[in-house]
Amino acid sequence: MKNYKNNLNHFFSLVESLEQLPTIGKKSAQKMAYYLSIDDKYLALKIAHCIENAIDYVKKCSICGGLSENEICEICSDENRNNGQLCIILHPKDIFTIEEIGEFEGQYFTIGELEKIDFTTFKKNIKEKNIKEIIFAFSPTLANDAIMLFIEDKLQGLDLTFSKIAQGVPTGIGLENIDQLSLSRAFSSRIKI
Ligand SMILES: [Zn+2]
Repeated sequence: MKNYKNNLNHFFSLVESLEQLPTIGKKSAQKMAYYLSIDDKYLALKIAHCIENAIDYVKKCSICGGLSENEICEICSDENRNNGQLCIILHPKDIFTIEEIGEFEGQYFTIGELEKIDFTTFKKNIKEKNIKEIIFAFSPTLANDAIMLFIEDKLQGLDLTFSKIAQGVPTGIGLENIDQLSLSRAFSSRIKI
């Protein structure tokens, strides 16, 4: 196998790169590499081009931390979304999940890494946007409850109510794995904390 591999450097470096993607194992990586290098070279070039563009243009919104191709995302710059509600999520991809339900009309803030949150700027944004309610859209785990308490504590002194999404959200799974109806119910029957 070693010698055989030696003559397929480019193929195996593609396999090894694909394998580094989340959720992709060795077998899937090999299948994809074969498909891209032999079965559909056109698709392969298209993907390569899309990756280059995504690297160049996709970034995080400087206000909410969601994905954007501009400095400030569509949601943060939409005055109609400034309704006094701010939904705090753990990961930018959670915005897609909540937007798909289409019922939340406020704005977002992404936690990302807790230590990196600039609370001075965050508080300033909350005041400027006249935010009245903070909604935590986390799945219930002990670690997530601790994050909620930490943030609530950091935002003490501001005129805010805090709530978290309610029942129907199973413990310990990401928001994207919850069906839309359950998530929609969890939003409308959110609990004050
Ligand atoms: Zn934004």
